Amino acid sequence: MSSLTAEEKYRNFIPDESRKYLEKMFAGFKEKVSIEVFTEEGPHNEYNEFTLNICRALNVLTDRIELREYALDSERGREREVFVTPTVLVAPESYDIRFLGAPAGEEGRALVESLNLASKGIEGISATTSEILGKLSDERLIRVFSSPTCPYCPGQAINAFKAAIAKPDKVSAWCISTLDNENMAREYKVGSVPHTDINNAVTFKGLEPEEQFMAQLVFLKPLDEILAEMRQRQVQPEETEFEDIDLVIIGGGPAGMSAGIYAKRSGLSCVILEKQGVGGQVALTPKVENYPGFTNIKGFELVEILGSHAREYTEINQFAEVREIRKNSRFEVFTDEKNYRAKGVLLATGVNVRMLDVPGEDKFYGHGVSYCATCDGNFYRGGKAVVVGGGNTALTDALHLKHLGIETTIVHRRDQFRAEKVLQDSVEREGINVLWNSEITEIVGDEQVESAKIRNTKDGSELTLDTDVVFVAIGHTANTALAEKLGVELRPDGFIKVDPSQRTSVERVYAAGDVTGGVRQIITATGQGAAAALTAFDDFTRMFEEVKPLPKNIW
Ligand code: NAP
Repeated sequence: MSSLTAEEKYRNFIPDESRKYLEKMFAGFKEKVSIEVFTEEGPHNEYNEFTLNICRALNVLTDRIELREYALDSERGREREVFVTPTVLVAPESYDIRFLGAPAGEEGRALVESLNLASKGIEGISATTSEILGKLSDERLIRVFSSPTCPYCPGQAINAFKAAIAKPDKVSAWCISTLDNENMAREYKVGSVPHTDINNAVTFKGLEPEEQFMAQLVFLKPLDEILAEMRQRQVQPEETEFEDIDLVIIGGGPAGMSAGIYAKRSGLSCVILEKQGVGGQVALTPKVENYPGFTNIKGFELVEILGSHAREYTEINQFAEVREIRKNSRFEVFTDEKNYRAKGVLLATGVNVRMLDVPGEDKFYGHGVSYCATCDGNFYRGGKAVVVGGGNTALTDALHLKHLGIETTIVHRRDQFRAEKVLQDSVEREGINVLWNSEITEIVGDEQVESAKIRNTKDGSELTLDTDVVFVAIGHTANTALAEKLGVELRPDGFIKVDPSQRTSVERVYAAGDVTGGVRQIITATGQGAAAALTAFDDFTRMFEEVKPLPKNIW
């Protein structure tokens, strides 16, 4: 007979380190949160048992969680309209936040976060999100399809939970595990996660910055369409109407936000223009563990902290795309809402995932083309995959896929990987097939990817490789369109060339963050943003007499 009590067994279900973290989090709960779990005997026994174990384990850690267990076929099940097992409802008396399927791995993180958010209620929701959702007048049902290994999924589920908490009478937020809800995933044509469906009317793939998510939820349209309609409706400011300002910062990632703080504190007037929501790549980063001062923080949380700090100093105009920029004696920066005439411009425009740019890539995105192997690998268990690239990401992806039981081929354009030696050794040891000196020329299929056409770069020979999926892992490209308009010199690898003070080749144009290449870390981006703003201040003070430094004691 076991010497452990039931309570001890459930406590042990959660590893020591996580338990400490959770106990600390639960101690900070503002309100008690109830969880209702629905299960039934049947083919989902394994998932049901896991779900009961995890919920019981959370319940024994704190008195701030109240657990209730029901059979699917129960009065409560019918009342709550539960139709699959396992289902977990979070604070069902206040919200419609539910997990369909066992919340394992990354989905477990989403469950814990949903409890945290529910305990805080509206206090945990940012002012901008509340403002955007203030415009919502109809009901919304958000289905976020996820998988236990997808590090981007909790972020998208949390977006949905925040909406449900901000607008409990209008928004339902369901996080659906694709692992034990295969039929539903098939019905919604889920080929990559996170996959978000709203009201059976619009679908979004991938993790989105919070404010972009909220805008799409309200307007039930993709962001591009919303922006295009706004542009059409908007009376464009006269080309000759300008707001005079010292520095226009383009890009609201860590570099831009840090620059805003430093510019304003040194006495410059400035504005941050961001064409989407703030945060840049960080907003899409599941976990940040190397930003000093934060041992472990979710990307979007760090963005919230940076954003609210920057807003204390400077205006941040989100969804304000710069459509034209000119250099005369001052810089003229044109957006749909307002034009600026500035002494200088700081480009903090960041990077984007590099695409292959071959026929079929766009068409099959989410249907056999993916940019995240940890998110979508599970869909292709037992199948075949191609990974494109020769860097750390490509090799890490290939190893992950191989471990999932997927027959994997790496397609690399040279005869040598640039990935770390240790990864190269693992790829060799695992016997992963490599096509050297090869590039994909087309991705082919009907509704789903079926094959890839591949050309040998040495002898020009071609072959067609059957595959269920192509994972693209070929790095990032710098967003340099505005830099090029200003005639700024780029480095051979396409990033903006800067001096140690963040000056570019064009006078009073500065650049900071990922767009300048290098090690591309959040800490270097914020450092470069600060340096760029201080350099601008120095330059403007020399060149334009009217910039008056603030008293030194402000530092
Ligand atoms: P990366 O190091 O820039 O590698 C990109 C790869 O894609 C290169 O092999 C490159 O080929 C290839 N490539 C580029 N453009 C291509 C195109 N148009 N068509 C075909 N192939 C193309 O990018 P990454 O692997 O995403 O890594 C980015 C950063 O994250 C690196 O600093 C990396 O160390 C880091 N990272 C670290 C880990 C880890 O520590 N485990 C894991 C993932 C990423 P060439 O080699 O011929 O240029």
